[in-house]
Amino acid sequence: MLQLIHPLLHKTMQSLFPCILCGIDQQRHHSVCTDCWQQLPWLKQTIQRQEIEIQAAFHYAYPMDRIIQKFKYEQQLHFQNLLAGSLIGLKLPKIQAIVPMPISHQRLAERGYNQSLVLAKLLAKQLNIPVWQPVARLAQHSQKGLSRIERLDQIDQQFVIATKTRVRYRKVLMLDDVVTTGSSLHALKQKLEALGCQKVYAACIASAEI
Ligand SMILES: [Zn+2]
Repeated sequence: MLQLIHPLLHKTMQSLFPCILCGIDQQRHHSVCTDCWQQLPWLKQTIQRQEIEIQAAFHYAYPMDRIIQKFKYEQQLHFQNLLAGSLIGLKLPKIQAIVPMPISHQRLAERGYNQSLVLAKLLAKQLNIPVWQPVARLAQHSQKGLSRIERLDQIDQQFVIATKTRVRYRKVLMLDDVVTTGSSLHALKQKLEALGCQKVYAACIASAEI
C-alpha cells in the first residue's frame, strides 16, 4: 500500500483515472483535475510560529481539512500524492534531509503509519535527499485542563533523541501535516539543534488558526 508507484505507470494512471476529488475530470495535478486543484484553499506562504518560519501550502479549510483527516485517521492513503504534491510547489530552502514529525508508538499502533513520514518519503524522493528520523516521541497524553506553560513543558518532554548512528545533517526540513501553535515543531527543532543541526526549516500541509 505504501509502495511508490512507478512514474511511468503513474502517468498512465493519471490519464485513465478521474480526479480523486470530483470523480469527473481527468487527473492533471497530483491525482486531481485542474478545476479542483485551483479551488483548493491555497496559502503558499511563510507563517511564523514559536520563532520558526514555516512554509505552509494550505489554509486548514474545506476540503483540505477533510482530506487531511481522512489521510491521517481513515487510512485513505490515496491522498498522499495530492498532499506531497502540494509541498513541491512551495519555496523550499536548500536542505540535506527531511525530518518528519515523529508520533508515539501508541499513535503508530492506532493508525498503522506516521502520516508525516509517508509524505516525507514522497517529498524526499522528489528532492533526491534522505528522510532522517533521529528523534522519537514518547506517549502523547491529553492536554485538556493544562495551562499554556504546562502544555509546552509536556510537549518538550515528549521528544527524545533516539539515534544510534553517527549520521548528522546540518540543514534539515521538519515536515508536519497541520500546524496550529507550532509547539511540536519547536520541541523537535530543539532536539535537532542539540544533534548539531545549524539550519532547521519547517514545512506543513496546512496552517490552522490558533
Ligand atoms: Zn476534480
